[in-house]
Amino acid sequence: MKDRICTSCGYEGQPIKQCKASFLVDAFVWGTVGSFALATGLLPALVIPVAWTTYHLAKFNTTKCPQCGSLDMVSKDSRKGRAALERKAKPTQVWVNKEVSSH
Ligand SMILES: [Zn+2]
Repeated sequence: MKDRICTSCGYEGQPIKQCKASFLVDAFVWGTVGSFALATGLLPALVIPVAWTTYHLAKFNTTKCPQCGSLDMVSKDSRKGRAALERKAKPTQVWVNKEVSSH
């Protein structure tokens, strides 16, 4: 797979899948709603975690920047990617200076 570039922090490399940590949320939703449904007998309430997990699986293949977590990682060959590379090559830009001087 080709390297990608993050349009928000300029990280170059492979984006990571954003599923590992969010599985905890799934487990939490299932645990909470599941025990609630069992305790009250409201089994239709289980629709909520099912919908949540379905939504999750739909977003499963999306990736994010391992450095800043931005979802906006693009191919270096694309127009956006080239713009990001250019921005990275010129660190004298005002917003960069602002960030550095605020530390
Ligand atoms: Zn980034």
